[in-house]
Amino acid sequence: MEIITTSARKKRLAHNGFVYIKKTTSKLTIRWECSQRAAKSCKGVVVTDINMTSINSTTTMRDFSFTSKR
Ligand SMILES: [Zn+2]
Repeated sequence: MEIITTSARKKRLAHNGFVYIKKTTSKLTIRWECSQRAAKSCKGVVVTDINMTSINSTTTMRDFSFTSKR
């Protein structure tokens, strides 16, 4: 997991070769959505803790399964 800061407001997260864009922040967690969400209808989401030090959960990357299985 790697945090990429491109500007003050838009943080990005690189994980397993995919890039996620910061979406919502709660008290304890941050939700990141796949950067290919719009382009490929990917529903990949990563949830990290608020300090961005560990990943709490991930969902399957749709764009990943497309490229690996079809
Ligand atoms: Zn994706």
